[in-house]
Amino acid sequence: MAYPDEIRKIYKDELEGIREAGIFKVERIIHAPQDSEIDVVFPAGSDQKHVINMCANNYLGLSSHPDVVNAAHAGLDVRGYGMSSVRFICGTQDIHKELEDKLTKFLGTEDTILFPSCMDANGGVFEAVLTEEDVMIADRLVHASIVDGMRLCKAMTDTYKHSDMKHLEKKLQLHQDKRVRMVITDGSFSMDGDLAKLDEIVELAEKYNAMVFVDDSHASGFIGKTGRGTHEHCNVVGKIDIITTTLGKALGGASGGCVSGRAELVEMCRQKARPYLFSNTIAPVVVAGANKVLDIVTSTTERRDKLEKNTEFWRKGLTEGGLIIKEGETPIVPVMLFNAKLSQDFARDLYDEGIYAIGFFFPVVPKGQARIRTQLSAAHDMHHLEKALGAFLKVGKKYDILHKTKQEVIDMYGS
Ligand SMILES: *Cc1c(COP(=O)(O)O)cnc(C)c1O
Repeated sequence: MAYPDEIRKIYKDELEGIREAGIFKVERIIHAPQDSEIDVVFPAGSDQKHVINMCANNYLGLSSHPDVVNAAHAGLDVRGYGMSSVRFICGTQDIHKELEDKLTKFLGTEDTILFPSCMDANGGVFEAVLTEEDVMIADRLVHASIVDGMRLCKAMTDTYKHSDMKHLEKKLQLHQDKRVRMVITDGSFSMDGDLAKLDEIVELAEKYNAMVFVDDSHASGFIGKTGRGTHEHCNVVGKIDIITTTLGKALGGASGGCVSGRAELVEMCRQKARPYLFSNTIAPVVVAGANKVLDIVTSTTERRDKLEKNTEFWRKGLTEGGLIIKEGETPIVPVMLFNAKLSQDFARDLYDEGIYAIGFFFPVVPKGQARIRTQLSAAHDMHHLEKALGAFLKVGKKYDILHKTKQEVIDMYGS
């Protein structure tokens, strides 16, 4: 190693600080395909444990679906393993164009461009379409990848309080002198599981002559009657100027993202977005799998319907059992524990009961709002959910927090 011990010490000390602050992230190793039941080793060196998975973004249960796996195998056979090129040189196959067309139809837009990930889509899109004459007005809880993408863009940055339409309206009024105003939001917010008020946002955008940007990563494939996303749920299909989303969650869960929307904006990304121009796109094997995923989600709503039923059962069961959840309708169901240590103890006890879920606390969520975020999947069958519910209530009883108010829980454990 070239660098001396003094430099090594800088990093060792910082890592020690992260450990002492109790926010050191340790990964649990899965020894199985991603599914509703998985084999996990945690902590390192301990025995493998078979658990029910309550924390994957595998909303439609397609991550290990045999039809998707077979389509990926076939894609590997007919289109090879790698592209060894970016799109605009010699990295575009027929199946990439096919996937872009399918996404355009599914999302109800004019055109779509693939990116290596949604992180890259968000990293490239703002800089490609906005200049210093423009303003970006973002919800204060947008995803980290949007925050980074905005940083790379020269347009002015402003924010509005989470889902506060009055505040958004004020900001739109304030920025009437700008060339372009872009309202930026997640469709479904991943920590609380609430949905953006896209109908009201579109109305304001029309009133104040603005563009609407929605990142629908936690919605594409299952929110809305036919799973098209938050815009379908809010009845504004065709009115969102830019949708970004990921193939890494409900839509097969492998990797990849896209920008979908107005044809000229998509073309601007093809010409100018740096993560598109300077990084390889999605590998053929993943594209072939994603094409199959799009066929599945456009031909039947069976999976999103099952997910909806699972979500109803889960939300009702937790509430009636006496736990406090964030109200809502999405398959993201946060079980509120308020105290950071309680969230960690609760998750550990769940794991002992064979239920895999993760406790989140500051700085991932605001102080005093520690929680266990549970996520439903169409891959869950009733027996999974019944067992998981039993475990949540058993552990809840152990900590004596069932049928207690928020204040009573905080009085017992602090926040
Ligand atoms: C997960 C997520 C992303 C990142 O998606 P990748 O394709 O994994 O990069 C971006 N935005 C939101 C809102 C997400 O939830």
